[in-house]
Amino acid sequence: MIPGYLFYRMGEYSVGNLPPKMPTTTLHPDIQEVLFDADVLRARIKELAASLSQDYQGKDPVLVGVLKGSALFLADLVREMTIPCTIDFVSMASYEGESSTGEVRLLLDLRSNPHGKHVVIVEDIVDTGLSLSSLMENIKAKRPASVEICVLLDKKETRKIPVSTKYVGFEIPNKFVIGYGLDYNEKYRQLPYVGILKDSAI
Ligand code: 5GP
Ligand code: MG
Repeated sequence: MIPGYLFYRMGEYSVGNLPPKMPTTTLHPDIQEVLFDADVLRARIKELAASLSQDYQGKDPVLVGVLKGSALFLADLVREMTIPCTIDFVSMASYEGESSTGEVRLLLDLRSNPHGKHVVIVEDIVDTGLSLSSLMENIKAKRPASVEICVLLDKKETRKIPVSTKYVGFEIPNKFVIGYGLDYNEKYRQLPYVGILKDSAI
C-alpha cells in the first residue's frame, strides 16, 4: 500500500508542477567568499566527465570515491558520464579540524576487488598529498590494470609528497575551503558552492 503522504506528494510534484528551487545565490552567513558557484562547478564537472568518458571508452572503469568529501562530486560526475562505469568507496582519516595531522588511516576499504580493473580515484581536494599517495600505494598493491586520480580541487603549493593528478577540476591557493562535500568539523558539506569561511566561524 502506498502511504497517503507519498501519494499526495507524487500528485503535488508531478512533471510540469515541480517544487520551487531554492535560490543558490542565498549565501550562508558563515561564508566570506564563494570561489566556485554551482554553475561553475557543474560546467567544469561536465568537462571532466567528458574527458573520462573519452579516455575510458570500452574500459568499464571503477570510480572510487573517497568518503565523505567526494560524495557530492562523485554523484555529479557519474551522472555526466556517457560510458558504463561502476562506483565504490573508501574512507580515510587524515584531518582534524582545520589542519592535517600528517597521519593517514584507512577506515573503510573497497568492497570490490580492483585486480585487473581500471581504477579512477575520485577525491574532493589534494593538499599535502599524503592521503592520496597512501591510497595509491594501497590500490596499486592489489594490481589493478591502471589507477589515475580525478580531483576537484588541487592545492599545488602545499604538496609534501608528489602525486600525479591526471584530472583536476580547479587549482586553488592555500586557503581552507568548505562546501560541495568539503566540511569544517562536519559542517557545510551540503552547500552547493565551494567557499571560504569567515574567521568568526572558525
Ligand atoms: P592531504 O592528505 O592531501 O593533505 O589532504 C587530503 C584531505 O584533507 C582531503 O581529502 C580533505 O578531506 C582534507 N582537506 C585538505 N584541504 C582541505 C580544505 O581546504 N578544506 C577541507 N574542508 N578539507 C581539506
Ligand atoms: Mg577527502
